Amino acid sequence: MAAGNAQTQTYDVVVIGGGAVGENLADRAVQGGLSAAIVESELVGGECSYWACMPSKALLRPGAALAAAAAVPGAGEVPQHVDVKATFAARDSFTSDWNDESQVEWLSSAGIDLIRGTARITGEREVEVHPNIEQTGLAPEQAHPTTVRARQAVAICTGTTPVLPPIEGLAESRPWTSAEATAATQVPPELLIIGGGVVGCEMATVYADLGARVHLIVRGKNLLASVDEFAGEAVAAALAEMGVDVRLSCEVTSCAQVGSGAADLIGDDATSFSGIRTEATLSDGATIVADQILVATGRKPDVPEITAGDIERDEAGQLALDDDLRAVGTDWLYVVGDASGRAHTTHQGKYQARIIGDLIAQRAGAPSAGSADLRADDMGPPQVIFTRPEVAHVGLTAAAAQEQGRNVKTFDQDLGAVAGAALHAHDYQGQVRFVVDVEQQLLIGATFVGQDVAEMLQAATIAIIGQVPLQRLKHVVPAYPTMSEVWLRFIEAAGW
Ligand SMILES: Cc1cc2nc3c(=O)[nH]c(=O)nc-3n(C[C@H](O)[C@H](O)[C@H](O)COP(=O)(O)OP(=O)(O)OC[C@H]3O[C@@H](n4cnc5c(N)ncnc54)[C@H](O)[C@@H]3O)c2cc1C
Repeated sequence: MAAGNAQTQTYDVVVIGGGAVGENLADRAVQGGLSAAIVESELVGGECSYWACMPSKALLRPGAALAAAAAVPGAGEVPQHVDVKATFAARDSFTSDWNDESQVEWLSSAGIDLIRGTARITGEREVEVHPNIEQTGLAPEQAHPTTVRARQAVAICTGTTPVLPPIEGLAESRPWTSAEATAATQVPPELLIIGGGVVGCEMATVYADLGARVHLIVRGKNLLASVDEFAGEAVAAALAEMGVDVRLSCEVTSCAQVGSGAADLIGDDATSFSGIRTEATLSDGATIVADQILVATGRKPDVPEITAGDIERDEAGQLALDDDLRAVGTDWLYVVGDASGRAHTTHQGKYQARIIGDLIAQRAGAPSAGSADLRADDMGPPQVIFTRPEVAHVGLTAAAAQEQGRNVKTFDQDLGAVAGAALHAHDYQGQVRFVVDVEQQLLIGATFVGQDVAEMLQAATIAIIGQVPLQRLKHVVPAYPTMSEVWLRFIEAAGW
């Protein structure tokens, strides 16, 4: 049970950060018989609920649905463009209008206390919480910090923050990050996106759907560098077909304000659009004038200030973690989810949270409890990129497996040649790559590219993380006519 007076409270577990990861970790600790409090500086639910997964997928869905209907002969007349106002309204509904009341209620029903404010770690098992003046309405002189102590563990689940590249004039151009791009209430007529990773590609799709002229400036020679090259190539070609100006091997070298007041804003009343026009100069000497710049060049862990003695850090200044995500040299401090640098998606962070929450509870009751088994982190977590075409990947790419010294064979299958795909959409274009470890006779990686492949990923995840022997897969019969019959083509090609 929690104990203490107004200034000092004590719980078994203090979780810093009430995103999906912090919520799940606290829940597991409470289910294990411990008391837990979450300290949250913004909204309970974190990035995923309000500025990342949910709003971005809500913004992507109308365009995907229209494109899907348009590719079905006989579906009738399909609108050419998404309804901007209705799309923003649907997004607002999925974010509960940025109100976390329902998630706060869930915390209470799960027996987790909420402490609103910004936390820093001031000592061993000690957290100081500074109330947010905006949330509390307190005058600065009344906003006294409180101390929260943990009997067992403090878990840092604070996620990440975007990294702004050091480009001359960029900060002055008031660029969007993904937070503003997913919460926008207006569509800038001309949007320049820096970065061709997941966020850059998904947001290019969203804003092209919403009617913006989008420029996607990418330093690398391909999009989506973390997945197989053919996936990035397919997405680049599709974005170009949608009218996006994709520039590869190109960088923004400087930005300068050239005036304000774009005339033709699309959408509702302005709240998030800066209204400043910016001229971006590119590494090839070209210039682009845009109404808004969106920076999508990566994120870094957002670990709170720690003044608790000597806690080891790695070369990048991040906390060094052991295999149980515990800070090296401590027996009480854990870093879980995006903040750990070992998870980059909600589902994988929640997986860590379930395991570490259980582990903390076990260690509280039985000091000799075992280590965390986070094997799915090491085998290549699943990820879906909700572009058009979608990209779904799990396990290792062939290149990553070869770097580990593994003898691999790849099997490329034309997804469009499967009867289920032909029925799904006219002229369905798609490809699947299966990566097999020849010695172990196991599937160790799979990448799907094509319309609606997201839901096909779990079968591959089960085969890979579950280490289903390849000889077994010949008995796993896909239903006809579904796109999953691509598995049959793979089994046949491999001769099993
Ligand atoms: C545009 C975008 C789209 C994405 N789409 C997907 C997707 O489709 N699927 C998917 O799985 N993942 C997606 N992700 C990734 C996903 O959002 C993250 O993996 C996930 O939010 C990480 O959860 P978390 O709980 O670790 O961190 P967060 O969700 O970032 O939560 C951390 C919380 O900690 C709080 N906090 C930080 N510092 C302090 C402090 N000092 N004191 C108190 N509180 C603090 C923050 O306010 C925040 O609420 C996307 C990311 C982006 C940017």
